[in-house]
Amino acid sequence: MKKYTAGFVFPVSSAPIQNGVVITDDSGKILAVEHRDQHDPASLDIRRGILAPGFVNTHCHLELSHMKGRVNTGTGLIPFITGVVTQRNATAEIIADAIEKAEAEMLEGGIVALGDISNAPDTFEVKSRGRMRYYTFVELFDFLQEAGADKAFADWSAVYGQLQPAAGSNGSLSPHAPYSVSKKLFRQIQTFNPDRGITVSIHNQETPPENELFERGSGDFYDFYGKFNISLDHFVPSGKGSIHYALDNMNPANRTIFVHNTLSTADDIRAAQAWSPHTFWATCPNANLYIENRLPNYQAFIDTGARVTIGTDSLTSNWQLSILEEMKTIARYQSYVPFDMLLRWATLNGAQALGFDDTLGSLDVGKTPGVLLLEGIGPDGSNLDRATVKRLI
Ligand SMILES: [Zn+2]
Repeated sequence: MKKYTAGFVFPVSSAPIQNGVVITDDSGKILAVEHRDQHDPASLDIRRGILAPGFVNTHCHLELSHMKGRVNTGTGLIPFITGVVTQRNATAEIIADAIEKAEAEMLEGGIVALGDISNAPDTFEVKSRGRMRYYTFVELFDFLQEAGADKAFADWSAVYGQLQPAAGSNGSLSPHAPYSVSKKLFRQIQTFNPDRGITVSIHNQETPPENELFERGSGDFYDFYGKFNISLDHFVPSGKGSIHYALDNMNPANRTIFVHNTLSTADDIRAAQAWSPHTFWATCPNANLYIENRLPNYQAFIDTGARVTIGTDSLTSNWQLSILEEMKTIARYQSYVPFDMLLRWATLNGAQALGFDDTLGSLDVGKTPGVLLLEGIGPDGSNLDRATVKRLI
């Protein structure tokens, strides 16, 4: 048995406890969360800082870890995607080595679960070891070409067939983004996935040309596709933001993680929440700064009661894979988001989005959520910028 105590314990599912004690068994299962007065000081492991549950990272592309530093910052999404598509090739050894290191970095930084996009099976071996809980989103796209849907579905359902999730991990087929998936491919994905109880992910409203394509049938996606000899001549704009196309073609009975949402308005968020009570909103602020040099308006998410989660995106579009660094970025640019809310985004909301809240996301009796020590931070979350994280369990 272990008894950790610090200035404040943040269970996340309930109010912070000053001088709280987190009691676990040797496997890390929470036995109780109590007050220091109830314990002999000699029995306690006393720390300075805040105790919190392990972080949940709801968006990454672990298989792109070998591309760290290869694609330029600040160019916008379309040049970024072009860079990824043209530069992602590497030897299997380089790819595997980078995946191992990226997983180690996340474990060290307090991440206990990952929602991870896969186009290839490169990460499946690391995932099968079960050092954290993984939700693998095998990602499909056909560049809005129904003629390509059958091949896309055949190729990526075969990738999915190779996934061997460790106990506690899971997977689904997931559409890449509204601007890259035809209605036919959406239907095939939905037919393949279970009708309820799973999580599906989709990139959403990450760049102005995405909304422009759907709202007006114009913009940079025409040139982008043209360069790859892909025609959008058949495309009929809906006159609404791109998220509405996703809502028309996805299953509201499953959990959906909309990722990025940099351009999402309060009306967009409300429309998605009316569509399904199982909507989650993954924000990847450092990747947004890396790629587009812009951030979502978090006030719109707070005003609509949206369940926000935090992702790191991949090392292709980030300087590190750290949920704490993502929290710092949000607090640095939009400091009205309170610390306890940020911590909820980083833990419990993410666990719920992945369906992993049976064991993760909060310091509740019976869970094995991991226990993190945040040092250098005030009891109210002040000085977050100077915080460091240490994994106790
Ligand atoms: Zn992504």
